[in-house]
Amino acid sequence: MIRLVTNLPELWGELCEVVRLFRGAVEIRQDEGEELILHDHAERDGLWVERFAADGRVVEHTAPIVRGGLEEKRQLKRAAKTGCFLLMRELTGVSPPWGSLTGIRPTRLMYELRERGIEGEAAERDLQARFYVSPEKTRLLSDILAMQRGLIDTPDDEYDLYIGIPFCTTRCAYCSFASGELGDGRLVEPYLAALKREMALDAALMDELGLKARSAYMGGGTPTALNAVQLDGLLREANRLFPGAREWTVEAGRPDTIDRDKLRALQDNGVTRISVNPQTFSDETLRVIGRAHTAAQTVEAFGLARSMGFGHINMDLIAALPGETEADFFRSLARTIDLAPESVTVHTLAIKRSSRLHERGGVQADATAAARMVDGARRALGEAGYAPYYLYRQKYMAGNLENVGYAKPGCACLYNIDNMEETTRILAQGAGAITKWLFPRERRIERAPNVRNIEQYISRVDEMAARKRTLILS
Ligand code: SF4
Repeated sequence: MIRLVTNLPELWGELCEVVRLFRGAVEIRQDEGEELILHDHAERDGLWVERFAADGRVVEHTAPIVRGGLEEKRQLKRAAKTGCFLLMRELTGVSPPWGSLTGIRPTRLMYELRERGIEGEAAERDLQARFYVSPEKTRLLSDILAMQRGLIDTPDDEYDLYIGIPFCTTRCAYCSFASGELGDGRLVEPYLAALKREMALDAALMDELGLKARSAYMGGGTPTALNAVQLDGLLREANRLFPGAREWTVEAGRPDTIDRDKLRALQDNGVTRISVNPQTFSDETLRVIGRAHTAAQTVEAFGLARSMGFGHINMDLIAALPGETEADFFRSLARTIDLAPESVTVHTLAIKRSSRLHERGGVQADATAAARMVDGARRALGEAGYAPYYLYRQKYMAGNLENVGYAKPGCACLYNIDNMEETTRILAQGAGAITKWLFPRERRIERAPNVRNIEQYISRVDEMAARKRTLILS
């Protein structure tokens, strides 16, 4: 246990995040702990002085004082976090690849620099110098910005549609989503009825505002946990209410939920992109993580979708799964590349607190091995013609690494870019779905989360829609 004491208590949580970059999910408290980290913030000669001390070592970081509103808060936070980062780096001798960055969307910093006329290598050098990000990661960010060029600018009258299906056949050990097991299926029909009601209320509002759907995405959960008739009915309703989306994705994530009738329902309703997710091609790991399907079923489902003419299939893999070696991961990657999906998303395992893996006391994989897996994936996918097009980071990830979406040329998923970069409004329906409404002139994003509990969602759907309406019209 670590005791962290600061004279800027409002930044205590942020400083803990930096300590955890080096020490994983260690318990940190303000009042007790075997190890002590002391932070003293002061002002001297027009500079902020962030002094950190622990284990007989002292590090001082200075930054010019900034005064006024949000920018003052932002820069002060940055200065204190950098000081903490430098102390931890000195204490541990470790230099994390993302440096002192703890945020979800590091691409945003690149976009901020671009707005100031700083691009390419100059922007990369800036992030390396200010945040100690490694050259490999700043290059990755540059490559992503290049892939997003021309895709990220959304017309003012468009939004992306998200529809959430919170049912799965079984629960994966690492899952932290608002997803329930299908069980006896008794909640499915009432859920779909509530969902269609929310969709209709939202569609009326979009018509009122003259806004149209740019892309549509059905996720969850596993939408293909529904039967073919339910899927068909839902997609038909979505297309009637929100016509014209130029990209339609449905997560068909669990290979064991895919059959010809369901795929036909997707096809008949104009779905352009599906996701068939192996996660790993090791049957033993699939059993350990509670996926209830085999690698052979993944290959079979992929082959079926291809034979029916699906032209864009995405596959998800996870690096650093429990018990997996680098060789296991690279075998899964090679088999994925052999199948030649149009896009591949490489996640790094995150053991979130709400997952079964966390309850079972799952420990994060060795950070160095995890880093070798994601770096190796980048090289192998690059050689196979894929380029990175979106990235995000999460808390509790092995090695504090990242999730990266790779795509073949022309196959980047608009919804994934919009959702991650927060450049487009997301209109979301379903239990646990989060509407993110962008007010471009004020550069403001407001969120309207729906309740996660399925039964509560069913009984409170009108309230969810009304809340969203108020927010959007605000
Ligand atoms: S398929 Fe996705 S949503 Fe369903 S249990 Fe697994 S991680 Fe959770």
